[in-house]
Amino acid sequence: MRDIKSIAVYCASSNKVRPSYMEAAEKLGAIFAAQGIRLIYGDGGIGLMAAVAKGVLDAGGEAVGVIPRFMVEQEWNNPRSTQTIVTETMHERKATICQMADAMVALPGGIGTFEELLECLTWKQLGLHSCPVVILNTDGYYDRLIACIDYMIEEQMMRPIHREMFVVVSHPEDVLPAILGGPAWDPSTRRLAAI
Ligand code: AMP
Repeated sequence: MRDIKSIAVYCASSNKVRPSYMEAAEKLGAIFAAQGIRLIYGDGGIGLMAAVAKGVLDAGGEAVGVIPRFMVEQEWNNPRSTQTIVTETMHERKATICQMADAMVALPGGIGTFEELLECLTWKQLGLHSCPVVILNTDGYYDRLIACIDYMIEEQMMRPIHREMFVVVSHPEDVLPAILGGPAWDPSTRRLAAI
């Protein structure tokens, strides 16, 4: 069993999404709190970010937000967070979230979430970290991205072994088992990064 204390969640800032995405985010937060897992997230006070933090905090858990100064100046941060870490840049924010986390989970989101997920997978492919990465594919939201990644492999843009860098699950209850029991990743696979 892996020793997992902190998990990063990448997810939408949009509030206008279907309720099932919000419910899954909040449920995941409650599961983290029940298991004593610390949430690391983008500190958004809206959207799925707020929902996952609500799930954690309402259940007595810890939610650490990492957010760039320009967003705090817009008052986009979540005042409920247990702790807010303010960074100078978006790059610093993403690096800090990655460094603080023992595993990463992507929930439905827009281009910001996709960028975070894909950067996290790019760094894993390059052997810069070996954390488990789980995609919570609520209502099949990620089916198209997964199909695109499978097409990358088919077209030899990516090696088949790199498909093992992430696990896809459908329900919040399946996230922690996937993190704890998913395939181990050997950082020396950096040698396989080139096609
Ligand atoms: P998206 O998936 O496009 O909604 O982007 C999610 C990411 O966008 C977050 O992790 C933040 O980097 C950023 N973001 C966009 N809008 C906000 C906001 N109002 N508050 C906090 N973060 C935001």
